[in-house]
Amino acid sequence: GMPSAPPPVLSPRRRTRQFNVGKVGIGSDSPISVQSMTTTKTHDINSTLQQIAELTAAGCDIVRVACPTDKDAEALPIIARKSQIPVIADIHFQPKYVFAAIEAGCGAVRVNPGNIRKFDDQVKEIAAAAKDHGTSIRIGVNAGSLDPRLLQKYGKATPEALVESAIWEASLFEEHGFRDFKISVKHNDPVVMVRAYELLAEAGDWPLHLGVTEAGPAFQGTIKSATAFGALLSQGIGDTIRVSLSAPPVEEVKVGSQILEALNLRPRKLEIVSCPSCGRAQVDVYTLADEVTAGLEGMEVPLRVAVMGCVVNGPGEARDADLGVASGNGKGQIFVKGEVIKTVPESEIVETLIEEAMRIAEEMEPV
Ligand code: SF4
Repeated sequence: GMPSAPPPVLSPRRRTRQFNVGKVGIGSDSPISVQSMTTTKTHDINSTLQQIAELTAAGCDIVRVACPTDKDAEALPIIARKSQIPVIADIHFQPKYVFAAIEAGCGAVRVNPGNIRKFDDQVKEIAAAAKDHGTSIRIGVNAGSLDPRLLQKYGKATPEALVESAIWEASLFEEHGFRDFKISVKHNDPVVMVRAYELLAEAGDWPLHLGVTEAGPAFQGTIKSATAFGALLSQGIGDTIRVSLSAPPVEEVKVGSQILEALNLRPRKLEIVSCPSCGRAQVDVYTLADEVTAGLEGMEVPLRVAVMGCVVNGPGEARDADLGVASGNGKGQIFVKGEVIKTVPESEIVETLIEEAMRIAEEMEPV
């Protein structure tokens, strides 16, 4: 058939410079990437690779691993080689681990050159080694570890303070001709964070890595990240994203992917269009929606399934979906592409929807 037009987005991407983290393109010519970070001890190679495999399966594009000790640095070559997705080594202060990560074949290193300079000025050698190996860098400015000089100047971690720090850190690499880095300016307050990224987006062409730091437990962290990323992505700002949750990293990837899918910045997969229920509902919509969602989890096709509690909006939504149910009188009318194909008792709605979904999915292309 005819190739369909790409779905509409709220704003064109901000133009940025381009580079790669391993095989993944970074910047405005590439899709926005979802990142997460392992919670295993990096030197526990099997557990770390296991978690990376789970993150990859959940849709993670790039994974970051902490590298606080010699043992962790020694594990990097195997992890970088066996991981299905590019690995970023997260390093604070110790230049020797930066060199180790570059030699290990990591796709990128997260390091703030300002920290390295304080202890041992090897920024120039790091830039040269990274260039030789095709390794990129992320400069990660964080409100919690802002330069004391800037804290003093601004009184606290304001957007302007975060951005001044980022621009200074960027200059430490750029003065050595090294340009393959993205920048993050994280804060736990979405309002400060959004403003900081807006300012940074105007100050240069660096790809930007979005994050609300210490966003909190799953529910609060999801809301903070979704609102902040939404505000930025809707202006075309943001090239990689990481949702930080006090929850297993697979959850971060699911939330990150859903944010991109919601804004048409990543192809939508399974989408459940379910009603909130109301006094008209003639079935238990919450349970129905949960059971259908659980039954179809992990589907790789762009299937829209409508789960509607009554016949007021039910048939309309069900018609727009690939598949749907509109319930009434303890029964469910099952719709496929707008046609009622059968009516089943309430107890058979879930199994019928799942059966039909599987049948339709077999005929669809995975996204
Ligand atoms: Fe209420 Fe029916 Fe709308 Fe669901 S579909 S919210 S039950 S009117």
